Order: sequence, then structure tokens, then C-alpha cells
Amino acid sequence: MRTSGPWRRAAAGAMLLGTDGAPVPTIFAEMSARAAATGSVNLGQGFPDEDGPAEVLDAARRAIADGVNQYPPGRGTADLREAIAEHQARFYDLHLDPEREVLVTAGATEALAAALLAFVEPGDQVVTFEPFYDAYGALIALAGGEHVTVPLRSPGFLPDLDELTSAITDRTRVILVNSPHNPTGRVFPQDVLQRIVELAEEHDALILTDEVYEHLSFGAPHVPVASLPGAAHRTLTISSGGKTFSTTGWKIGWITGPSELIEGVLAVKQFLTYVNGAPFQPAIATGLRLPDAVFGGIASALAAKHAVLADGIRGAGFDVFTPDAGYFVIADAGPLGFPDAREFCRLLPERVGVVAIPVTAFVRPDHADDFTSLVRFAFCKRERVLHEAVERLGRLAA
Ligand code: PMP
Ligand code: GLN
Repeated sequence: MRTSGPWRRAAAGAMLLGTDGAPVPTIFAEMSARAAATGSVNLGQGFPDEDGPAEVLDAARRAIADGVNQYPPGRGTADLREAIAEHQARFYDLHLDPEREVLVTAGATEALAAALLAFVEPGDQVVTFEPFYDAYGALIALAGGEHVTVPLRSPGFLPDLDELTSAITDRTRVILVNSPHNPTGRVFPQDVLQRIVELAEEHDALILTDEVYEHLSFGAPHVPVASLPGAAHRTLTISSGGKTFSTTGWKIGWITGPSELIEGVLAVKQFLTYVNGAPFQPAIATGLRLPDAVFGGIASALAAKHAVLADGIRGAGFDVFTPDAGYFVIADAGPLGFPDAREFCRLLPERVGVVAIPVTAFVRPDHADDFTSLVRFAFCKRERVLHEAVERLGRLAA
């Protein structure tokens, strides 16, 4: 039987095929399994180990009890779409029509998948920054696109504007932006975002912007690309409730932008999942309407967790690159005598009982040289868990 097909192209493009030709699990699944098998502290996959706001959790329980358990409307419940539009207006002065410019998706991941499948023709180029979130490579390949990257090198993890300019050409269909950025935690400054908008205009490219860490900034405030002059009519903005409300397992995401672009995404999305998460939709709507102070508290709680881990691993001998936002901090294991982070992350669970992810997992193999000794640690964990990890990592230098 023929087993070829787009999945093989995607797997090959994203380097997800093992030597036996079978798909290998994502780096996150692999590392969480290692953590479970070795009893390690899991600072690999980015998921919180405590619950988010009680109002959000209670709203989901209530919705289930009230019988909100059948298919919601294809675009998402009217109430959630309104809450998303209110949120964009409240935080960013972006004004959307909830009927036509907002689409609820199965996490940010489905929004990314549907948008890339909707707009990328085989052979079109999609530009991302590198390192990049693993799904980007796989989804671009599934859509038949050609993945072009612009490096974000240490220590600043910001793009060189000349490299950015030469990466974007008339073959560029989509510029996929991710700020705050996974894995570096960088919030792109406004001049970089504005340059992206100018280049998109010059080459008539779409901007797809993944802003799932929008509320997790403890450095520079988040500026949505769509709010910049000249951006809104060619920008699709993606976010998700998972990070903000510590509900990564609920997979309630959304995509917003001009109605004619949203139509294209909807055309694909309705045959991917059709709809998802009926009782979680009102719960995320509740979350999006929480007072500003709650959002501020979420970011400052993460800042405190970041401080525990970053100070601790610096003390353990790593060079640490301070993030602006998000769940992750990048550290260089080179000063501890580990020049190869992949090897380092492989031995770390057995050696000291900690799981982390090599940054090369977010980089194409032929571009790995700039990132070889860098490791990503997640700090979205209880402080006592972070202290335990630091104590264990301290044994490396001994
Ligand atoms: N984009 C980025 C940058 C992410 O880090 C993640 C997941 N952690 C996602 C998208 C996926 O989000 P979701 O779980 O809402 O699909
Ligand atoms: N986004 C999460 C991370 O970067 C993982 C999500 C996943 O497992 N696919 O760790």
C-alpha cells in the first residue's frame, strides 16, 4: 500500500522522520516522557504545574453542569468572539467585528495550520525567525511551502535588519512573526516590527503573527503587529487562552484579522476540527474579561519564577540570557564544560534528574552551529519545584 503523501513531505521538511521512516515524537513529548521515566524535574515542555484563575475554572465546571456540551457554532460562540474583540480593544485599541473578524480555533496550533494551509501554495516561501516553534517547520512543509529563516543569534536574539530585508522577496507569501518569542523570550522592539510591516507591503506578503505569550511580558510591553501603521489589512493575529490562564490542555485559541482573510482560514478550519471545546469557550471568555490587575498579576508571578530559575542557574555556572516574556529562559551550558546541548540534555535526567530542551530542537540541522551549546529551561513551575531544579543543577559543577 502507498504510504507517501503530504505527511511524508512535512515529516521530512521538519526532520520528524526517524531512520526507520516512522514519525518521531515531538521534542516536547519526548522530553516529558523522559522526565516521567526518570522521575526528573520537567523543565522541558512548557506547561504550568498549577491552576490559573479560579473564575476561569469555575466557569468551565458551570458550563458542563449547565449542559454546554454540544457543538458550538463554527466560528466559536458569539460570547467568546465578543470577549476576544473586547480584549483587543481594551488592551491594544484594535477594533474588530466579532461576527466577521474573529474565529475561534483548537488552540493557536489549529489557527497556524489553517492559515498556512489556506494561503500557502506549493513553492511559496514562508519566512520565520530561527530558532522557531517546532510546529512552524512541520506546518509550512505540510502546506508545501518553502521555509526561509532569519537567525536570532545570542546574546540579543534580535534579527539583523539587513538579513531580514534580504530574506523577504516577491516569493514570500507569509511572514510568520512570534513575539513574545518561543524559545528566546524576546519581545521584538517596535522598529523591527515596523520593518516587517514595510517589507510585507513592499513584497505584498501576509503577516501571520503568533502572540500566545502576549500577557506574559515582564519586560517590554507587548505590541501587536496589527496595531502598527499599515499592518492591519494584511495581518492575521493568533493567540490562545492556554498560556495566559494556565489551561494549555483546553486548546482554545483564536485568529483575528480582515474578514476576507478570516474567510479563507475558516474554509480550512471547518474541515480540520470543525469546532472544539464547547464548555471551555465561555470559560475563556470569562478569563478575557477579568480585570487588568489579574493580567498584571499573571505576568508578575511569572517574573518571580523567572528570577528564581535564572538566578539559580547562573549560580550553577550557566551563562543566562534574560528573556522579556514567556515561559522560558535560554542558558549556555558551554561554561560548565558542555559544548553540545543536545548531548547535555540527553545525559541531564540521569546525571542530576532535570529535563531541559536543546535550542537546536528549534533550529534546522544545517543552521545549528550558532546555537550548539544553548539550552531552554521552562520556569512556569511552582517555586519549590524551581528551587529543587536549581539545587540539582548545582551538582553539575561539583
Ligand atoms: N505558538 C507558540 C509560540 C507556542 O509556544 C505554543 C505552545 N506552547 C503554541 C503556539 C501552541 O499553542 P496552543 O497550545 O494554543 O495550540
Ligand atoms: N509550546 C510548548 C513548548 O514550547 C509545547 C507544546 C507542545 O508540546 N506541542 O514547550
